[in-house]
Amino acid sequence: MPAKLPKHSSCLDRRDFTAYLGSSLRRAPAADGAGVWSSHLPERALIPTPTGRHALYYFLENAPLAPGDEVLVAAYNFYIVVRILVQKGLVPVFVDVEPDTLCLDPEDLRRKIGARSRMVLVTHMFGNPANLEAIAAICREHGLLLFEDCAHAVGTRHRGKQVGQAGDGALFSFGVQKLVNSFGGGLLCLEPGLRTGFRQPPHRVSRWHSFSDTLGRFCVSLMMTPSLYGATLHPLERLVARLVDRSSRLRQLIDPARNDGAYRFRRDERAPFKPFMLATHEHQLARLEENVARRRRWAALLKRELAGVEEIGFLDEDRHGRSNFSYFGVVVDDPHRTSRVLAENGIGSSPQEYFDCAALDQFADYAADCPHARQVAAHVLRLPSYPTLEPADARRVARVLRAAVGHS
Ligand SMILES: *Cc1c(COP(=O)(O)O)cnc(C)c1O
Repeated sequence: MPAKLPKHSSCLDRRDFTAYLGSSLRRAPAADGAGVWSSHLPERALIPTPTGRHALYYFLENAPLAPGDEVLVAAYNFYIVVRILVQKGLVPVFVDVEPDTLCLDPEDLRRKIGARSRMVLVTHMFGNPANLEAIAAICREHGLLLFEDCAHAVGTRHRGKQVGQAGDGALFSFGVQKLVNSFGGGLLCLEPGLRTGFRQPPHRVSRWHSFSDTLGRFCVSLMMTPSLYGATLHPLERLVARLVDRSSRLRQLIDPARNDGAYRFRRDERAPFKPFMLATHEHQLARLEENVARRRRWAALLKRELAGVEEIGFLDEDRHGRSNFSYFGVVVDDPHRTSRVLAENGIGSSPQEYFDCAALDQFADYAADCPHARQVAAHVLRLPSYPTLEPADARRVARVLRAAVGHS
């Protein structure tokens, strides 16, 4: 039986785990600053946050926004980001995406701007850079705030520069599903002028809750290590798949990309940013370029293996810069069926990484017709793309995929 391939791994090494274990034995002071990040984001004021969604929430708390103001946001999106906008009394206006980058389409953005538009939230989806140049120009022209969701985009470049520095703010996330993983944590990047007067809302969490929150994510990350995955998380995932309606907490930890209309952001629900996180970031950022290069090589190899298979379409990840390939998506007719065949062959994938939020029941008040978002939500299949995948894995995935889509 060949090895089980998870759909994602941050490929942590021993030092990332020991930095946490060492620190959890000490009572550490609160983190201040975000030293290792300043060389990657030199133009920004950096504020560590408990998660990526906290960074967005804190930005919205401080931004000159009033209830009823409109925020233009890509329809193909992580629903939690949209829920936070709604929770803050803002009105999401869904903009279609470019089908080949999965990112906000500047042309549709122009059409959707109205008298109450105040902000644009752009996501570098799957780690593919959005057309920041065009989007930033539109924001300047109309006096709109610009916020970048860089949860997938550490190492993603636009015009040679790390994304997250084009507008007024940006979020990064260091959760277990992300490219840089410190078992939680996030980062708010602010245009330096906005740093003065910035107020960080209070964050209260009990020591026990903080400890167990980080420990839970540590354990999941350990089980996502490719060499341990087959014996640990893989059987657990199959079990969870069966219990999924009963254990929303476990589901949220292992596979948070879904559609939960009852979700409410709670500031005090997650552990704070802890000092050991910066130590793990330092290790992981030292490997960043090498790991991005490996992901890119692997994806290129898989594309070559699949060339000429007309049942499988590709994205244009580098259209607006350099993608980090933190997620690797292909376009197929029936991603759910294809994903089941991959799973039967021990290959992890995700047939529904994100939804067309403009068509979700939970956002019915803001419904819009976004044909490209609808199409990519229905047809994009996320495949494994982590740095330790080998050429032999690409041949194996390609072979199973060809058979799964009925290519002869
Ligand atoms: C993970 C993620 C976030 C939020 O990050 P958390 O740290 O989980 O709060 C935001 N946007 C996208 C697209 C994400 O994938």
